[in-house]
Amino acid sequence: MKLDVNVLRYLSKDDFRVLTAVEMGMRNHEIVPTELIDRIASLKHGGTYKVLKNLLKHKLLHHDSSKYDGFRLTYLGYDFLALKTLLNRGVFTAVGRQIGVGKESDIFEVAKEDGTVLAMKLHRLGRVSFRAVKSKRDYLKHRSSYNWLYLSRLAALKEFAFMKALEEHGFPVPHAIDSNRHCVVMSLIQGYPLVQVKQLQNPDTIFETIIGLVVRLAEHGLIHCDFNEFNIMIDDDEKVTMIDFPQMVSVSHYNAQMYFDRDVECIFKFFKKRFSLSFQENADASDDSEVDSDEVGRPKFTDIRKITGFLDRELAASGFTRKDQNDIEQFTGGDLEKDLGSDVEESQDEHIQKDGHIEVFDSLSLAKVDDNPVEPGGTSNKDIEIQDEGNSG
Ligand code: ADP
Ligand code: MG
Repeated sequence: MKLDVNVLRYLSKDDFRVLTAVEMGMRNHEIVPTELIDRIASLKHGGTYKVLKNLLKHKLLHHDSSKYDGFRLTYLGYDFLALKTLLNRGVFTAVGRQIGVGKESDIFEVAKEDGTVLAMKLHRLGRVSFRAVKSKRDYLKHRSSYNWLYLSRLAALKEFAFMKALEEHGFPVPHAIDSNRHCVVMSLIQGYPLVQVKQLQNPDTIFETIIGLVVRLAEHGLIHCDFNEFNIMIDDDEKVTMIDFPQMVSVSHYNAQMYFDRDVECIFKFFKKRFSLSFQENADASDDSEVDSDEVGRPKFTDIRKITGFLDRELAASGFTRKDQNDIEQFTGGDLEKDLGSDVEESQDEHIQKDGHIEVFDSLSLAKVDDNPVEPGGTSNKDIEIQDEGNSG
């Protein structure tokens, strides 16, 4: 998708006031009645309707008059609210090119005033596969109003909390810098997802490091649940960094063993295929005392000494609650069908249209990524300076 941050420069205080009013209204309304927006915004000099038209023009809002006249935020509108807040906090001053597009996120480079480049992840939890959404529809019904905002915000909150906690426990993860709404800002990893790496100097060592991470996570009471070649980054020195944590679950999760085994299996499969590693088929042949092995050399979930309670203890303090965890597990961990190995969903749009179930999706989340985005004014998307309006957010 394209994040036309240029628009940010031209938005006034009133624009942001009205945008925020729509966000607030969405706590109780899928489509926020226009008059309610006007009341919440209560602009000093009036003119809410004109502002709404402007926001609509920039695709920050979606207009709906099927039942009554009203508006809802688009993903872009939500993006702008988060960006504005982070800009005001001075977390970064410019947004650069898009560096990643995952199943449920868009990742951009952002730059600080001193030129340091960071990574910004915008969560898009509405962008799950058709089947998953369908199976969760009953759940969504109860949260009909601000489901994708709510879930994307939870995903960001969770990711930020986990990244921090994991870093504190010495895990190789990006450094968590700040988070707002559905957005997480972290250090930029100078490397490539393992899936793009065709050759390694020491595939055996990397393999052991990675399997060691799965085991150490479990010892800390956690399972990644999406541990695969897309979520492991390798730099030129072959240093491993793991990313992408919104779907992590506790080792006390009722499906914990399955998730653990699946994570392990993904790594075994990938290294066998890509780097032709062969694994011992017999536990007796193992001289690896660190990791207990079953007959095919896999670490065994039941053999791991787990420190449970990590989630509750470490994360409660961060504001990420047990209820948040339960809510988000409905979508990410739990029984969500993940087509591992394909970060790209094919013909997603088609499915959604067929189903007619568009309310949790947003037109923008379906937009295709533009490899070389060009601004309407003709300038490239690279390193665009965003003017800080100066009002606190
Ligand atoms: P998703 O949950 O959508 O899969 P990820 O967190 O896995 O999102 O990020 C998607 C892609 O973006 C990654 O595969 C990687 O290429 C890139 N990426 C994510 N975080 C960073 C980071 N901190 N530094 C550099 N690249 C990153
Ligand atoms: Mg990922």
